[in-house]
Amino acid sequence: MIRPERHRWLAAGLLALLAIAILGVAPVLAAAKARNVIVLIADGCASEQHTFARWFKGAPLSYDPYQVGAIKTYIADSVIADSAPAASAFATGVRTNDKFISVGPNQNTLSVVPPPPEELWYKPVATVLEGARLMKKATGIVATSRVTHATPAAYIAHAPSRGDEDDIMEQAVHQGIDVVFGGGKRHLVLKEFKGRRTDGDNLYEHLKTWGYQIVENREQMQSLASGRVYGMFAASHMDPEIDRPRLHPGQPTLAEMTRKAIEILARNKNGFFLMVEGSQVDWACHANDPAYLLSDLLAFDMAVQAALDFARKDGNTLVLAMSDHNTGGFSIGNYATDGLYPRMKVEKFLEPFRRMQASSIAMMAQIEKDKTPARVQAVIKDGWALEITDEEARKILAAAAPRADDAYYAIGEVLCPKYTYVGWTTHGHTGGDVPLFAFGPGKPGGIVEAPDIARVCASAMGLDLARLNERLFVDAAKAFADGKVGVDKSDPANPVVKIDYRGRPAELPVNKNFLKLGERLFPLEGVVVYAPATGRAYIPLQAVRMIRGEKAALPGIAN
Ligand SMILES: [Zn+2]
Repeated sequence: MIRPERHRWLAAGLLALLAIAILGVAPVLAAAKARNVIVLIADGCASEQHTFARWFKGAPLSYDPYQVGAIKTYIADSVIADSAPAASAFATGVRTNDKFISVGPNQNTLSVVPPPPEELWYKPVATVLEGARLMKKATGIVATSRVTHATPAAYIAHAPSRGDEDDIMEQAVHQGIDVVFGGGKRHLVLKEFKGRRTDGDNLYEHLKTWGYQIVENREQMQSLASGRVYGMFAASHMDPEIDRPRLHPGQPTLAEMTRKAIEILARNKNGFFLMVEGSQVDWACHANDPAYLLSDLLAFDMAVQAALDFARKDGNTLVLAMSDHNTGGFSIGNYATDGLYPRMKVEKFLEPFRRMQASSIAMMAQIEKDKTPARVQAVIKDGWALEITDEEARKILAAAAPRADDAYYAIGEVLCPKYTYVGWTTHGHTGGDVPLFAFGPGKPGGIVEAPDIARVCASAMGLDLARLNERLFVDAAKAFADGKVGVDKSDPANPVVKIDYRGRPAELPVNKNFLKLGERLFPLEGVVVYAPATGRAYIPLQAVRMIRGEKAALPGIAN
């Protein structure tokens, strides 16, 4: 039974989304160069992986003609990036710390990164997607990971840790995003209904109450024509592309999700902002798995093709394709090619990959059932068509044993040096620049800083990020220095910002976009964010004005 105040928040939710539709600012921005912006991120790869995919495809990649430069990938506290701060820089224009999701950096920065002012520590930083929404554009995210995972999360939420996926989903649902396609259904659903949520918030039901369509397979997705929609195609992550047709054929491909998202978003006359992530290219490289890499990178290639097909026809769309960092230290050539490299023929190089039909994740899942050398040999023969020795099978089991949920890393680690001509130097990320591809009005050029990507998107849409931040994230304690501000954590899963201003109580639940003023509920154009590390709470300027009883129009966010 939903607690009575939840009914009221639910009603406020519906009001909020109506308000988001109503309150957005007038769109025509003189400085705007592109009506639509599509950002496509192949997580965790760089030029060697693109070259590898092109050889395997046997034809140019869709983005080959559009390389315009490269991106420096370092983050605030490391020369090697994590996906969360990398995407946060792309989304907000601010370089931040390891694991942070679109919140400001703290004092632990590299010697080359000036330490941020204290008031920026853990402060939510507005994203270009939030800006597009306030400009009455349609907004969307597509990923093959959970939509709450690092990269998509950085565009739709604000949290001190990429691990806070229940909070990230709660903010996302209260952001009024038009199209959300990917995995992660478990973060919408309560634990008692086989989900992960323990805060009493059945977000899945909230979405339906607010008029969202929710689809869970390709067929349902393909039947969509318009409106707001969540496509939840897996409880957690979607499948590696190489396993999807065999294990979950009902899951759509990245290109199918991208094409459908564009079809729906392009109905908005003010244009749209869409972020698409080929999330699992990174995981393939972490695993040193060339088959997994090829399948997910070529799936990304087809998604970029879908975006370019639209942009070419539309003529008013900026398309950016890039990576957030490299992973695995992948190389075409390894110690086995030391004496061979100047005589490496195409088919000789590609031959082993042509016979690979499964990811190391899927194969290890088979091996887990019976951890014997014979089983390993049978599974590798079936998945990668390799006849490996008993000793190699034992080596895989030995390498897998100390690993918890990434035991599958052992397969590529043991077999690639012997049976392929590709090399890996690590199971982690690496720090080199990554290539940047761009098409359409407002495209950048040269070697850019990661935060510049947000500025390119904002400038293309005619959006002023500084003004957007003033509009969406006001430090409540500062705004009400003449009042009383606190965060009620009596229900730890549902903290509430409480403001007492001139005897008028105001309440703002964290991770949602509502204001309770006296007995009345008001929708807000942005989410309320709490930073546990500093104890500060951030609320939209709109709420400040309402609590103070000020009627002045909110400042514009055009540049
Ligand atoms: Zn990674």
